[in-house]
Amino acid sequence: MKASTLLSLCTIIITVGTKKVSSVSQYQKLLVVSYDAFRYDYFNRNLTLFMNDLRKENTHADYMKNVFVTKTFPNHFSIATGLYEETHGVIGNQVLIPETGEILKDSYAMYHYNEEIAPIWIVNEKASPDRHSGVIMWPGCKYEYLGVKPTFLQKFNMSIPFEDRVDLLISWFTHPTQPINLGFLYIEEPDTTGHMVGINAKAFNLVLQKLDNVTKYIYENLNKHGLKDVNVIHLSDHGMESITPKRIIDLNKFVNSSDYKIVESSAALQIFPIVGKLDTVYKQLVDAANKTGHFTVYKKEEIPDRYHFRKNPRVPPIFIVAEIGYAFSDVYKSIEYYEKMQNLTVNNLTEFGIHGYDNEEPAMRPMFFAYGPMFKKNYEIQPFNNIDLFPLFCEILNLSCPPVNGTLENVRSCLNSSLEIPTFQIGLAIVGVMILLGIGIFMAVYIVRRRRDRLNSYHRIFSAESDSEYLQNGQSDFGLI
Ligand code: AMP
Ligand code: ZN
Ligand code: ZN
Repeated sequence: MKASTLLSLCTIIITVGTKKVSSVSQYQKLLVVSYDAFRYDYFNRNLTLFMNDLRKENTHADYMKNVFVTKTFPNHFSIATGLYEETHGVIGNQVLIPETGEILKDSYAMYHYNEEIAPIWIVNEKASPDRHSGVIMWPGCKYEYLGVKPTFLQKFNMSIPFEDRVDLLISWFTHPTQPINLGFLYIEEPDTTGHMVGINAKAFNLVLQKLDNVTKYIYENLNKHGLKDVNVIHLSDHGMESITPKRIIDLNKFVNSSDYKIVESSAALQIFPIVGKLDTVYKQLVDAANKTGHFTVYKKEEIPDRYHFRKNPRVPPIFIVAEIGYAFSDVYKSIEYYEKMQNLTVNNLTEFGIHGYDNEEPAMRPMFFAYGPMFKKNYEIQPFNNIDLFPLFCEILNLSCPPVNGTLENVRSCLNSSLEIPTFQIGLAIVGVMILLGIGIFMAVYIVRRRRDRLNSYHRIFSAESDSEYLQNGQSDFGLI
């Protein structure tokens, strides 16, 4: 190929490659996408062919470990902050604020147990005036933290189609004056459908296929808009398990409902007995658990350490957790709603989806896979905690990481940069030292040779002079040679 042809080809490639990009951030870019309740083993159904290939060809974990309780708000906030629920205080989708006795759902107070805690999108914003974050519907995103909101924000609104959410994100990554380097995208499926029809229904599988298309849409549109350098993490917050109405435990049969308040919904309930009724309610619940055999009752102080849940003032005096596949009577209310929504009649075999169970239950495991310039190809990382993601986000975004409960060491291996840049730098240093050594040896040899040559020529001159002296004086001094 002629040099001129090569040059024009390069020009075309550069023009085409950069045309779509009006402006992009100078910082490392990261997009985090959450599909609510996407269980780690849905890939085995072979309904998500694009996702299956993408995860295998890039970095993926068999599953991710989440935090207890396995609910949406707590886990999304743990992912965003790197903290256990007992540290950030979002201990459920509902919390009771001890100071006021208020029961709060999505609210400023719910996410501000500790005013010094900030999600990664805020940490990114605060690190520099030209770092920008854009967040779509992630739980807790619409509130200020440390007096700051993300540059771009879309509040929770289920009526916005998933592809439109992706388009919005891309418009933020390519924004002419404030391009983001960090994006967060929340999608409420397959959680919404899973709750209504269970995880074995046809309608549920159709949703999985829809999410496969969304994943492809994200991948293709990043490429189409010249955003190949965006690192993309696909994850979820928890899994789901199907239950049937015959597996609903009716607490009213065992405990007087006026003796306590319930906060949160199955599969884990916060129990607040009225004044003077703590021991009665606890005893009745323990009796009920022994009779049914399908749930566990804890006084606050009995909640196991491994949950990293107990040490927060918002944690109730009594806490009950259903065995996997079971739920409490609060589910009846949801069933009424599902019946209306789908115009169906529920029978004993009708399935519904539930989560919130012990985070060590395999059915509660979320998924994780990632691609982009900083992630390794064809790499399976060992299961890690979702709180380890915060330090990973910091590493990718080149932000200094505040102290959190998660650890970078658990996830560092999936990054190209962690191994290859140091290896490359070490290699470069070795080559540099060798070049310097080579130059040094060459110079030394050169200097020694020059000295020897000079001495030789000096001796030659000297001996020539001696010879002439000898010729003149009739003697010679060989001792000098
Ligand atoms: P869960 O049952 O724990 O999976 O909660 C999921 C539900 O939380 C979703 O179906 C939404 O109704 C709600 N949700 C999710 N994200 C948000 C948000 N950013 N703001 C308010 N509600 C949300
Ligand atoms: Zn969820
Ligand atoms: Zn849910």
